[in-house]
Amino acid sequence: MHEMSLCEGILQVLETEASTQKFKKVKTVWLEIGELSSVEIEALKFSFDVVMKNSIAKDAKLEIIRVAGSAWCMQCSEPVKIKKRFDECPQCGSSQLQVTGGTEMKIKELEVE
Ligand SMILES: [Zn+2]
Repeated sequence: MHEMSLCEGILQVLETEASTQKFKKVKTVWLEIGELSSVEIEALKFSFDVVMKNSIAKDAKLEIIRVAGSAWCMQCSEPVKIKKRFDECPQCGSSQLQVTGGTEMKIKELEVE
């Protein structure tokens, strides 16, 4: 599962942070997930619990922050909001859009002790 490897990546980041910042336990992880990324939230939550078992983040809570998709429309010359990666411009219907945001998945914040 794709979400499983994402969580393994997250755990690696947490472990690296733990050794540089000297914390022993992760209490909450805030994850920013763009609406245009192909991450399934339910699968991600499930994988998170599985992967974090027996780690420094074993009881950590996962908080998801959704980031709306955004793009630049060449026709309108302005930023527009989109829901899917290959959406057309909601204003003029053009498909000449350059995705500018909403594809990311990153750790926004950690609560540790
Ligand atoms: Zn447009």
